[in-house]
Amino acid sequence: MSPMLDMSAVRKTYSTGVVQVEALRGVDLSVDQGDYLAIMGPSGSGKSTLMHIIGCLDVPTSGTYLLDDTDVSKMTESQLAEVRNRKIGFVFQQFNLLSSLSALRNVELPLVYAGVPAATRKERALAALDRVGLADRVQHRPGELSGGQQQRVSVARALVTDPALLLADEPTGNLDSHSTEEILGLFAELNEAGRTIVVITHEFEVAEHAKRRVFIRDGLLATTDAVLGGVH
Ligand code: ADP
Repeated sequence: MSPMLDMSAVRKTYSTGVVQVEALRGVDLSVDQGDYLAIMGPSGSGKSTLMHIIGCLDVPTSGTYLLDDTDVSKMTESQLAEVRNRKIGFVFQQFNLLSSLSALRNVELPLVYAGVPAATRKERALAALDRVGLADRVQHRPGELSGGQQQRVSVARALVTDPALLLADEPTGNLDSHSTEEILGLFAELNEAGRTIVVITHEFEVAEHAKRRVFIRDGLLATTDAVLGGVH
């Protein structure tokens, strides 16, 4: 079986006037279905750039990226948008929920964009909210929920399209320790049920919950074991 995510020699160079920044300098990364990977690295190491490419928010300057057997490395913006909506569920540090909408309506949104009929939308959004333990909060707006509950709504929103990949960018960065445990517990459950998860984080406490860790530094990947091996 081919990997869910297969990146080879991915480079990303930003050109700002005369200055060129090599944010990724030849990244090879492969993630199998059912894997749970944490990508770690300090500020400025290229984490966001890599996350944008994994999430089909941007394309590499060179190299190839196959997502679920589709080559996304040379796609146009509208093709990328389509792949994002069908294959990737995003969870962001800031939750990115719409404050005027109920939890239910927030979770329905990706299905609205995908053209799913209203009755099916509601049914699937309710099931996703139930999956994250919020069946009794579906009519609450984000402002009426705790941080941990808001992040669970955003996990439900990410899952509602049944994506090939759940991609989380610093998912616990805005949460207290109790809510952090809650979200990490949920990720573990989802992964045990077969969901493929990639988490970008700078926190070891978050990364240690994943099955596997890689470390990015100066736009290059290393396994954390190799990095930690140098410390021990
Ligand atoms: P991290 O998320 O680990 O902080 P980034 O991927 O944001 O790292 O940045 C990696 C490098 O690329 C940094 O040197 C940063 O300044 C540079 N960079 C990121 N985005 C841009 C951009 N849009 N234009 C120019 N340089 C950028």
